[in-house]
Amino acid sequence: MEVPFFRHALDESDIECAADVLRSPFITTGFRTEQFEGLLASRLLCREAVGVMSCTHALFLALSAWGVGPGDEVIVPAMTFVASASVVSHVGATPILCDVEAKTGLIDLDAAEGLVNERTRVLLVVHLYGQMVDMQEARRVADRNGLRLLEDSAHCIEGERDGVGPGQLGDAACFSFYATKNITSAEGGAVVSNDIEFCDRVRRMRLHGMSKNALHRYTGRYEHWDVAEFGYKANMTDVQAAMLSNQLERLEVQRLSREATSRRYEEVLNEAGIDYPLVLPECTSARHLFTMWAPAACRDEVLASLQDSGIGVAVNFRSLTKLTVFAKDGRFTGDSCPRSDLIGSRTVSLPLFPFMTDDEVEYAAICAVRAVEGCAVS
Ligand SMILES: *Cc1c(COP(=O)(O)O)cnc(C)c1O
Repeated sequence: MEVPFFRHALDESDIECAADVLRSPFITTGFRTEQFEGLLASRLLCREAVGVMSCTHALFLALSAWGVGPGDEVIVPAMTFVASASVVSHVGATPILCDVEAKTGLIDLDAAEGLVNERTRVLLVVHLYGQMVDMQEARRVADRNGLRLLEDSAHCIEGERDGVGPGQLGDAACFSFYATKNITSAEGGAVVSNDIEFCDRVRRMRLHGMSKNALHRYTGRYEHWDVAEFGYKANMTDVQAAMLSNQLERLEVQRLSREATSRRYEEVLNEAGIDYPLVLPECTSARHLFTMWAPAACRDEVLASLQDSGIGVAVNFRSLTKLTVFAKDGRFTGDSCPRSDLIGSRTVSLPLFPFMTDDEVEYAAICAVRAVEGCAVS
């Protein structure tokens, strides 16, 4: 038996939505993008959304729109995908890696506050695996220290914590529609915020800084456009937007399916005494990824054993402190982020996607236990 790490859940209706756009005269950023932005914002109970090419672009544009740049610092958890930190560097600022909580892998907000100095501009939090950071506490930390609060919500559209969803308490939240994310258009992203002026700025910056977009030029009578400051090229297309709007309706069904799979993994791992990140009782996790914690000395062997059994695996993530780009600058070596380092040395991501069959789940779970036990014995 083989179980892929991920299998997307795009169906004929999504394909039909994309095809409809391709058969129409207008295929780039237009009505469908506006429509998706409206649907996403209302799903999240936020005022506005801006569709872009990726979550990486979304994070980059949010930092740029706030004028974060050289001399500034942004606090980023060490347990995340590299894009959460690379965007900080791309705007010319410095990412400051922060340790995470031992049980959840979420940013340790006390540690984050300890890293604040006069150069700090932004607190960036990551809703890791779909479980939300305590946004009420994050908001207090940001407000006490005069920081913007940015949510990397690439894993979490559907999550909630104490009744708060992504985008509601942050100054902006960024989403990913990459191929393996909870809804997808192969590539795609969005910035969501309650700050209308900020959204207007992101909207201009995603398209060269132009004061009018192609839709205006296409539908109205010709008017000259202007550029007050240079922007970038990161606009979402209507092909992406049409596919995404269609999938929004299935968000909860697909989340429930991943929730059931995750709970089955947890049962099997509990029985075997294998650890995994805790989902807190006050949280509804979006259940984007399922990771387990093998003994650090066994991790790579467990990955190999699972692959030998036909199970797709990944590591989400190794601690950013271990990447050459950080290790070589010497600032975060040693014990700056010991809990992130430990989690990063133990993590094995198991297959998780909507509508996994019972057989697939059972086989992957049993192989995971066998792989850990096989290593512990030898
Ligand atoms: C996937 C991911 C991103 C980047 O998303 P893209 O849409 O591929 O740019 C950023 N942060 C986290 C935590 C991610 O998992």
